[in-house]
Amino acid sequence: ETITVQELANRMAERAPNVIKALMKMGVMATINQPIDADTAELVVEEFGHEVKRVSEADVLEGLGGSEDKPEDMVSRPPVVTVMGHVDHGKTSLLDALRATDVVAGEAGGITQHIGAYQVQMASGDKITFIDTPGHEAFTAMRSRGAKVTDIVVLVVAADDGIMPQTVEAIRHARAAEVPVVVAINKMDKPGADPNRVRQELLNHELVVEEMGGDVLTVEVSAKQRLNLEKLEEAILLQAEIQDLKANPEREAEGTVIEAKMEKGRGSVATVLIRRGTLKVGDIFVAGTEWGRVRAMIDDRGNRIEEAGPAYPVEILGFQGTPQAGDDFVVVDDEAKAREVAGYRQRKEREALAVKSARGTMEQMFAKIKAGEAKELPVVIKADVQGSVEAIVGTLEKMATEEVKVRVLHSAVGGINESDITLAKASEALVIGFNVRANPQARELSRRDGVEIRYYSIIYDVAEDIKRALTGLLEPTF
Ligand code: GDP
Repeated sequence: ETITVQELANRMAERAPNVIKALMKMGVMATINQPIDADTAELVVEEFGHEVKRVSEADVLEGLGGSEDKPEDMVSRPPVVTVMGHVDHGKTSLLDALRATDVVAGEAGGITQHIGAYQVQMASGDKITFIDTPGHEAFTAMRSRGAKVTDIVVLVVAADDGIMPQTVEAIRHARAAEVPVVVAINKMDKPGADPNRVRQELLNHELVVEEMGGDVLTVEVSAKQRLNLEKLEEAILLQAEIQDLKANPEREAEGTVIEAKMEKGRGSVATVLIRRGTLKVGDIFVAGTEWGRVRAMIDDRGNRIEEAGPAYPVEILGFQGTPQAGDDFVVVDDEAKAREVAGYRQRKEREALAVKSARGTMEQMFAKIKAGEAKELPVVIKADVQGSVEAIVGTLEKMATEEVKVRVLHSAVGGINESDITLAKASEALVIGFNVRANPQARELSRRDGVEIRYYSIIYDVAEDIKRALTGLLEPTF
């Protein structure tokens, strides 16, 4: 454990040059950004006449959300839905059309606010929350930050076009996140619409639809003609019922940031989806490395509200800094606690960034395997021909030690693209390129996100590397 001279000075509220002088007296030559060990730091703190208090993670994060709810306090909550699918298959149109089915907005004259998510109330009184940034980028970005927001994925497939590459990607993402899929077969108004072909094609991707004896619900819709939208909503509610979604509304709020930005005149604003509890104006909170006090809340219908319960998306004013999508949001007792946690996380983040730039995914993975924390080695495989893909998948899936096995998240023919990297990042997976390379965007993204890509041209080498990885022996390459 170490602390930089600057950080130590900050915590003691002393000037850094004075800390450097004190260190010199002890025979330690240090610059302002140099890390010094905990024992040396302790001596310096005593030298300044301060009380030594080593803060552990557990101390700082104590009492910060996460506590269990009693079963009797759990109340049904609306499902949270993300819409995914191939470009131009109608995700945006469908989100707009679904939004228009809201009976409450209808009454109020339909003034809507874009805050990153909205809730629809059906005539039956049932509610559904939709995340209204379509596409798998937002979905995986959030998941890679540890946030599990989505209960159900609505997969949009155009009836006149069928399963396309991004449809397949969306299926992979949903599967990796273990989120059930409801299929909306869209554009049924078009002359070339062929819903049965879509159902048939889904079969090739292990989505067995109800009509074929499976459990995947499909609904034929037209976003354009607003056809069968209630049917789609009913299918979503049916899927939600199977999952028995519940939350305790009577506690301090916890949620997830789904969108955040800096706005002129309003400061940092973020949309938070409440996971459990009820958020109230005046509550003090921590969100990722930021904190704040709820100054005002605005819902997706443009209303200022005083309280927000489970699965309700609200835009919050009162952040001290701008959090990130996917950040955890937790109400705390007081400002001192909020500052302490946010400050601690900011320090941790700086340290982690320094470590991350020095180590690859693989090395971190080995550390986890060695420590017994990881049971699987997730991989994404891209190769030049189908035969190689199959050979590699077959070889790797057969390899497993007592402790760990390989989990193939995605395998396909083709170069490594951004989607492969986002998928890998979300699951901390290794990307294997067999006789293929990554495109420049994917390379850039992999560098930024610390996702490791390994290139091979001999299957034996892949097998050898993975075998060593599974036994925690592989030397990292840089
Ligand atoms: P996204 O890229 O998946 O968000 O797709 P959009 O919602 O932007 O739709 C792509 C195009 O398909 C637009 O020109 C829409 O007007 C059209 N479209 C979307 N839904 C339907 C539909 O149900 N029927 C027809 N005929 N066109 C649709």
